[in-house]
Amino acid sequence: MSGRAVLNLARKLRRRARDLFPVEGFHFDRPLVLLQSDDWGRVGLRDRAGLEELRSGGIEIGERPYDFYTLETAEDLSALRALLCRHRDSAGQYASIGMNFIVANLDFARIEADDFRRIHLLPLGEGLPRGWNRPGLHDAYRQGVSDGVFHPGLHGVTHFCRPAVERQVASTGDRLDLLRTLWRAGTPYIHWRMPWVGFEYWDPEQPADERFLTATSQRELVGQSVGAFARFFSAVPRSACAPGYRADEDTHKAWAEYGVRVAQNGPGTLMPPHFDDYNTLHLYRSIEFEPATDPAFSVASSLRDIEMCFARGIPAVVSLHSINFHSSVRDFRSRSLELLHELLSALETKYPDLLYLHDENLCDLINRGSYENAQGLMRVNVTKKRTSKLGASQRTG
Ligand SMILES: [Zn+2]
Repeated sequence: MSGRAVLNLARKLRRRARDLFPVEGFHFDRPLVLLQSDDWGRVGLRDRAGLEELRSGGIEIGERPYDFYTLETAEDLSALRALLCRHRDSAGQYASIGMNFIVANLDFARIEADDFRRIHLLPLGEGLPRGWNRPGLHDAYRQGVSDGVFHPGLHGVTHFCRPAVERQVASTGDRLDLLRTLWRAGTPYIHWRMPWVGFEYWDPEQPADERFLTATSQRELVGQSVGAFARFFSAVPRSACAPGYRADEDTHKAWAEYGVRVAQNGPGTLMPPHFDDYNTLHLYRSIEFEPATDPAFSVASSLRDIEMCFARGIPAVVSLHSINFHSSVRDFRSRSLELLHELLSALETKYPDLLYLHDENLCDLINRGSYENAQGLMRVNVTKKRTSKLGASQRTG
């Protein structure tokens, strides 16, 4: 067994033990709702022109909703902002959304000039790649932030796993041909068509125990993403979600070193918020609000899932990806906004003591017993209960 394999085995055993043994989970005596959203700032299909170009390159765009993942426009953002500003909780605070950003895109012009042999990145703060046009986008993000309804968080530098793509770039074959066709058309990748691109910290074609990048590589990537984030937003990220929810202990450690206080985790359990060894608060998504991609989506079932969280005294953490608000090729936005309006209205009616929070509010609440909103200091009772991950995954009700 190699040194790395031994280390990974030890880590796996530690993780298993941790899943079995209880953690101190935080519970609340009021219904709390948080919205968490990924993939902001990441370009996909380059609108109509990109679609035509890919079709003429032999790619049948349109088989799945993610073929129509483009990039938000300033108008998409102002429509979302307006919707959130229509909703207030029982304390008069607007609904708000945590938006996790991919902070760089591929610099297609430089990649092509290099004959597709090297990956070049363009930080979000330096604009969008060749052929992309999004007037007013930066200001639209900032407007939502200054209105207090957008809370930017960290998603990653590229979303895909750089070493996984670099391997293809250094070889020949169908995968490289596909990358070239996409990159010429201004699209970095379409994940479902090429899952081998992996996720930022996770390389899918390595042996099972070695898929996560090393601690050193992850730390470097987290450092790069925090730097680019800080240049774009003039603030450091306090909350983070790993692309594809692929994060391990090394990711959490690197986040903590760079000042991240909240780690967002994917759906599948009803775990209450809890701290890890690095004093980072872990939150778990429990409601998937994805009308753009889920044919079985219904507001009624979202409401049932939210009710289940409240019954357990844990916050309802709603996951909704940026594609739901895109409109430049396919209008996902109109229906998503209507459904979100319906969901929030139903919650406000049903729970007269409802509170809308964002990740940092919840962190403050747990640390100090109160958080600040536009109206002043909000106090909510927080209690600790021991819960294990295993117990939390057995959903009831
Ligand atoms: Zn993502």
